[in-house]
Amino acid sequence: MPINDLRCDACMTIEPDVAYRLSDGIPECPDCSQARRVDWSHGKAPAAYGEGYGSFTPIDMGVLGRAETKEDYDAKMKIIQQRFPGHRVETLSETETQRNTRVDEVRHRRYTIRKARGVDMKAVAERNEEAKAKKAEAAVPKPQKIQVGSR
Ligand SMILES: [Zn+2]
Repeated sequence: MPINDLRCDACMTIEPDVAYRLSDGIPECPDCSQARRVDWSHGKAPAAYGEGYGSFTPIDMGVLGRAETKEDYDAKMKIIQQRFPGHRVETLSETETQRNTRVDEVRHRRYTIRKARGVDMKAVAERNEEAKAKKAEAAVPKPQKIQVGSR
């Protein structure tokens, strides 16, 4: 399952670290329903994140998984290098704090861009809530009305 930052060219937003199935394709933009593409603007293609062998995740369109050992990690990196000949495989060592900072920066940038474009954030939030509520309603059978008594 690849995990990528996804960019929507229609509303200029970037959603960081989206996990999706290759067979399903890249999920469409939750805000404007347009097709999105992988955002490589961090220059991390292909890359690996992690703090140690136990937590390394080599990231690439076909090779993804937790590398629990050095051998496992080396093997995955080798596959990435074979699939992207000539590319430098960048290994980013990122702590939890650094990761959160990066994600926050992307979120903030996204918010700033939207605001500058005059996207009504309240309307977007309301629409998202509505969609969520609809989904929940569809998933859960409606509870029976219970008479609680008069006030
Ligand atoms: Zn969009």
